[in-house]
This record gives sequence, C-alpha cells and structure tokens, in this order.
Amino acid sequence: MEQILATVVQRDPEQREFHQAVGEFLATLAPVLERRPEYRRQALLERLVEPERMILFRVPWMDDQGAVHVNRGYRVEMSSAIGPYKGGLRFHSTVNLSIIKFLAFEQVFKNSLTTLPLGGGKGGADFDPRGRSDAEVMRFCQAFMAELFRHIGEDTDVPAGDVGVGAREIGYLFGMYKKLRNKFTGALTGKGLAWGGSLIRPEATGYGVVYFAAEMLATRGETLAGKRCLVSGSGNVAQFTVEKILQMGGKALTMSDSCGYVYDEAGIDAAKLDCVKAIKNIRRGRLQEYCQYFPDAVYVPVDPASDSNPLWRHSADCALPGATHNEINGLDAQHLVDGGVRLICEGANMPSTPEAIAVFRGNNVLFGPAKAANAGGVAVSGLEMAQDSMRLSWSRDEVDARLRAIIHGIHHTCLDAAAAYGQEGDYLAGANIAGFVKVASAVLDQGLV
Ligand code: NDP
Repeated sequence: MEQILATVVQRDPEQREFHQAVGEFLATLAPVLERRPEYRRQALLERLVEPERMILFRVPWMDDQGAVHVNRGYRVEMSSAIGPYKGGLRFHSTVNLSIIKFLAFEQVFKNSLTTLPLGGGKGGADFDPRGRSDAEVMRFCQAFMAELFRHIGEDTDVPAGDVGVGAREIGYLFGMYKKLRNKFTGALTGKGLAWGGSLIRPEATGYGVVYFAAEMLATRGETLAGKRCLVSGSGNVAQFTVEKILQMGGKALTMSDSCGYVYDEAGIDAAKLDCVKAIKNIRRGRLQEYCQYFPDAVYVPVDPASDSNPLWRHSADCALPGATHNEINGLDAQHLVDGGVRLICEGANMPSTPEAIAVFRGNNVLFGPAKAANAGGVAVSGLEMAQDSMRLSWSRDEVDARLRAIIHGIHHTCLDAAAAYGQEGDYLAGANIAGFVKVASAVLDQGLV
C-alpha cells in the first residue's frame, strides 16, 4: 500500500487532495488484499488510481463588457468498470486537476455502493459563477460544452451538478449539448422537470445524508427527533439536509457560506430555510443577510486562514458538514467531540481531514463517510438516467422511496463489509471495502484493458 501511495505522490507531487483521498482509501484495504492475492498479482490498485482518461481544455468566453477570458476545463474519466462514467461538474475558482481527480476517485466507489450501473468521473472549470450575470454564465457554459460535448453521451459519460453548477448551469449546458449533437438524450442529469429531469433529484443528496444519519442512529436505538444539529454550507446539499432534519424532528442550528456562518439557537425552521433558499438560489447573495430578517440569530465571519472554524465549537448532538473538502480539521473535530457531538454524517466530499477522522474514530463517534452518506444524489441521477431511457417519469413518492431503499441498502452493505473483514461498526472501512470489491471484480472480469 505504501509503495502504491508513494508512486502516486511521486508521479504528481503537487496533487495533495488526490493523495489524501487515495491514502485514506488504501489505509482500509489491507484485509481485502490479504484475502485476495489475485488483486495484487493483477495490479488492481495500481490500475484504479490511474484515471482511464483525463481531458483538459481551454474555455474562452466573453464577459458583458466585451473582455475575453480564458478558463481551464477538466473532465477526469476515472473508471468505466461498472457503467458509463458518472459524476458532477464543479465551477469554482479553486478547481484544479488534483481536486477533480480526488472527486473522480471517490465517485468510483460511491457509485459502486449505490448498486446502480455507474462508473466514476468528475469535471469542472476554474470559473467562478458568483458575481457573474446570467448572460455571462450562459456564455461560459456554452463555451465549456463546445469542447466537452465530444467526450460525453448517455452511454459514455453523464455529468451532473456540483459546487457552482446547479439547475441554471445544467440548463445552459444541456441546451448547448442538444444543439451540437442534434439529439435529445439524457447525457446530463439534474435536468429541469419539464425536459427530462427527475423529481427529488435536487433534494436527493441532502435527504440521503439525513436518511443515512437516521440509519446510523437507529443502530444505537436513537432517532433524530430532538437532536441539535450543526450544518455547514448553504447550497444544494446543505439546504435539503436542513429540510430533512426538520421533517425528522431535529433542530438545525447553523448554516454557512464561504464568508461565515449563522448560528440560530431557536433553530432554522421551514420559513427561515425558505429565506436561505431565496438568498442563495434567487438573489445569489451572502448568508449574512439572514440576520437582517432574524435578528436573534448571530452571524460569525470566518477567516479561511485561521486554524479552526468556530462553527464546530457550538455544543450539539450531530454534525452534517455540507460545504467543501477539509472543512473539519483535527482541532475542529476535538471541539465537536468536546461539545457533545456523537454523530458525523458527511454531505460534502472529504470534509474531514485524516486527523479529524482519527479523532472521531478514537471517541466512538458514529462516522458516516461521504462515499456512503452522500451517495443519494448520484443514486437519483442514476434513476433519472433510467427514466430518460424509458421515456417515463416516476412520482415524487416513488423516487423518494427508491432513494430511501438505496440508502438503507448502502448502510447495511457498509456494516456487512466491515464485519466480514473484522472491522465491526467501521463505516469508513466498510464503504471502502464494499465499493472496492465490486469494482475490482468487474475489472478482473474484463481483462487487461
Ligand atoms: P453549492 O455550490 O450548491 O453550495 C456550496 C456551498 O458551500 C455554498 O454555501 C458555498 O458558499 C460553500 N463553499 C464552497 N466552497 C467553499 C469553501 N472553499 N469554503 C467554505 N465554504 C465553501 O454546492 P453543493 O451543495 O452541491 O455541494 C456541496 C458539497 O457537497 C461539495 O463538497 C460537493 O462535492 C458535495 N456533493 C454535492 C452533491 C450534489 O448533488 N450537489 C452530491 C454529492 C456531494 P458560497 O455560497 O459562499 O460559495
């Protein structure tokens, strides 16, 4: 394992996020390789840490003042062992190859856990839609798709949204794809309901995270009712995490964006959540506005350079990070444990650093890793693909029931895989092992390709 990781690091020394994702994954796989020596003989891990294909491209576009900008576009097609590449697109100024590779790597095993026939990939651009007009975002999306279209398709690679890519961006991307291909196909998911989208897709990641949290609590005979929850982020994942916490009788105390967070001791109820949705989705503003409407809440600006985030210092029962990677470090994790948190359920991808995970594991905290806990989004994307192929739309209740069943299945799969390899109750080990074993056997079956 050490040798494989050393080679990954040596090959791309600057890709720190990718090293972190691979390192965390490999650290849990030793028991599998001991039992399955053929995986080593066939260099399975060496094959899985190298993307099948990486596409990097120039995205030139014009702003409203007529100035020309050039961004860099990415699509990392990591593995097609069990289905067409599937994974979101991220538009954010921090996007680079390391981040896209880490997300694509995680996506492979997450998609495997869903039980749906989905390979793994991820893409995006170092373009920040924040502060851009709709017309600028449209021109950027069209320029991005003018290259991406030749690499994707409903049976090849099916992108979706992620940070900075929501319903508006998917609309512009799909419109351009359709025009270039002259075909109406489900080559993207997260589409509008009127043009091939699925009910519950916007809600799916956040709802799935809370369903997973409820499954974990049930193993200790508990429910979410009355639980005080810290949530980070105020985008797609965080909004529907809060919505489902409320529906299950819990209390959400915090939400955040990249400038700071709000703490509302009375709880963020449905009306307050509607206000957050209006601020973030319609006015595309800052969360700080929340306190203008609800002056009893407190807004705390956060300095990204500080060594810990005060959001994680509030006392609570559960924490559901839903903003970005590495948002909980070792110190934050200790604050969470000291503040009474007994459950972490990851909505964002890789929000906990390795040091934070060590703190959670050392303190008997229920820890739901992103690969398992936030798989609801891609699972419903898989259901959207199925509905597109059949030219059918399922009802809201039907999709929600399927989502719930998939999350229930993932929860059991994690526990069963962990137990089968002597790691009882370890969701992280279970998710990695179960996700890996399925992909590995598919790779072996398909020969050296
Ligand atoms: P959105 O763009 O809808 O929202 C992202 C939120 O996180 C915003 O509140 C944003 O603040 C905040 N944020 C982004 N970057 C940073 C940063 N560097 N520091 C602090 N806050 C930040 O994205 P999503 O809700 O879709 O995604 C959130 C996380 O969930 C990501 O890790 C994503 O990969 C993961 N995820 C998303 C899925 C989906 O279906 N959408 C599926 C599975 C995982 P601001 O408004 O200031 O930018």
